[in-house]
Amino acid sequence: MQHFPIFLAVAGRRIVVSGGGAAALAKLRLLLKTEAHITVLATDPAPEIAAWAEAGRLTLIRRAMEPGDALCAALFYAANEDAAQDRRVAALAQRDGALVNIVDDLHNSQFITPAIVDRDPVVVAIGTEGAAPVLARAIKKDIEDRLPPVLGTLARIGKAFRARVEALPFGARRRDFWSAFYFDAGPRAIAEGGAHAVEPALHCLLADHLNKAPNMGLVEFVGAGPGDPELLTLKARRALHTADVVIYDRLVSPEILELARREAVLLDAGKEGFGAAMAQDDINALIVEHGAKGAHVVRLKSGDPTVFGRLDEEIEAVEAAGLAWSIVPGITAASAAVASIGQSLTKRQRNGSVRFLTGHDMKGFADHDWAALARPGEVAAIYMGKRAARFIQGRLLMHGARADTPVTVIENASRPDSRVLSTTLGLLEPTLTDAALSGPALTLLGLAPRAALATVADLPKEAAQ
Ligand code: SAH
Repeated sequence: MQHFPIFLAVAGRRIVVSGGGAAALAKLRLLLKTEAHITVLATDPAPEIAAWAEAGRLTLIRRAMEPGDALCAALFYAANEDAAQDRRVAALAQRDGALVNIVDDLHNSQFITPAIVDRDPVVVAIGTEGAAPVLARAIKKDIEDRLPPVLGTLARIGKAFRARVEALPFGARRRDFWSAFYFDAGPRAIAEGGAHAVEPALHCLLADHLNKAPNMGLVEFVGAGPGDPELLTLKARRALHTADVVIYDRLVSPEILELARREAVLLDAGKEGFGAAMAQDDINALIVEHGAKGAHVVRLKSGDPTVFGRLDEEIEAVEAAGLAWSIVPGITAASAAVASIGQSLTKRQRNGSVRFLTGHDMKGFADHDWAALARPGEVAAIYMGKRAARFIQGRLLMHGARADTPVTVIENASRPDSRVLSTTLGLLEPTLTDAALSGPALTLLGLAPRAALATVADLPKEAAQ
C-alpha cells in the first residue's frame, strides 16, 4: 500500500484550490460537501464558481496564486490544467505548509482524492492508487446501489442519540438496540413519516429496550483444547461464535482465537509470558465485571478447564456475583499427548488408574505420593513438569522407582511444531534441560511411544545435541 487512507478533520480549516476550469469544478463539488473554508484562486473562474462565491460558500480571489496564499491551509489542489502553472503553484503551496495534490499528476502529488460514496456521516472512500479508475468507478456504483439513501439520515440522527443509549449496558444490549434501529425501526420510521419520525421512533425503541428484562450475564468456562483448532468441541465453537467477551489464557493458540466472533472483545489474561501472569483475583474481577454488564463471557482455558485451571476460584467469584455459569469441557493436554505417541492412558493389566500431577503449585515444587508413583506399571501425566523434572526424578528414584522406567515428554502436543522426547526416568535430566523445549510440555511417566512410532521420537542422545 503506497497510500494510507485516513479521514482528515477539515471543519474550520482552509482548503485552497488554484484554477477555475473543469478540473477545479470537479474537486470543488466534493470539497463543498465538507465544513472547510474554501478559497479559489482563478483569473477566469467558471460561472458556477463565481456563483458559489456570491452565495458565500467559498472565497474567490480573481488572480493567479502568490506566495502565502496557501498559508494555514490543510490541503491544496493545483487544478489549472496546465502542467507548468500547476508545478509553480504546487511549489508555492508546499512552501506554505499545505499538503499538495496536482490534479491528474499522481507522481507529484502528496495525497490523492478517493472516489467517494457519500451517506454523510457514513462515507466510503475508494482508492486504487491511480491504477484503475474504471474499477474505482465500478466499485463506487456497486456501493451506491447497496447503501440506501436514507442511511446517512439514520446515521446522523443515530449519532446524536448515542449518549442516551449509554443508559443500556455496554455489549449485547446496546448492540441489539442499534441493529433494531438501523435494520428495522429506523427505515420503517422514515418510510412512514419521513426524517421527522426518526427521533420519536428512537425514543420509543430505547424505552422498549430499557424496559426489557436485563440480560443476565452468562459466563461459560470453555476448554480450548491443546492447540489444534480441530480439537475444539462443537460447543466450544458455538460459544466462541456468540461471545461478547473472550478472556483467554496464554496457552490458547492464535488459530483458536481467530474463531471468536469478530466483534467480540478479546482480553488476554496471561499477558506477562515468562513473569507472573495476571493475578487470579484480577482475572476473577474481570470475568465478573463483564458478566455483571450482561455480557456473554467466554472464559477460554487451554485443554480442559477442569484440569489445573484454577477453575473453582473463578466459579466462586462468578457465583458470588450472582451470575449464571456453565462448563464446556475440552480435550486436556494429557489426552492429546498420549494420542500423539499412540498409547493409552490406562491398560488392562498394566495400570487401572492414571494420575494427573502438577510439577509445581503455588508453594513451589509439588509433593505427591512418591512411593505409590514409584511402583512398576504406574502411569502419570505430569503437567507443568519442565522446571520440576529434576525434583520429580530425584523423589521417584529415592522411593525405589526403576531408572529404566519409560518417560516421554511431549512438547506442543497437537500443534504443528510438536516434539517428542523419549527417555527414561534415570536420564530424564539432563535430557530435558538439554533439549531446551520452549513450548508447553507434558511428561508421561511410565509410557514410551508405541514401538511403531518410536522412530519419530527424538532419542535422548539426539535431543542432547
Ligand atoms: N487445563 C490445561 C492445563 C493447564 S496447566 C489442560 O487441560 O491441558 C498448563 C500445562 O498444561 C502446561 O504447563 C503443560 O504441561 C500442559 N499443556 C497445555 N497444553 C499443552 C500442549 N499443547 N502440549 C503439551 N502440554 C500442554
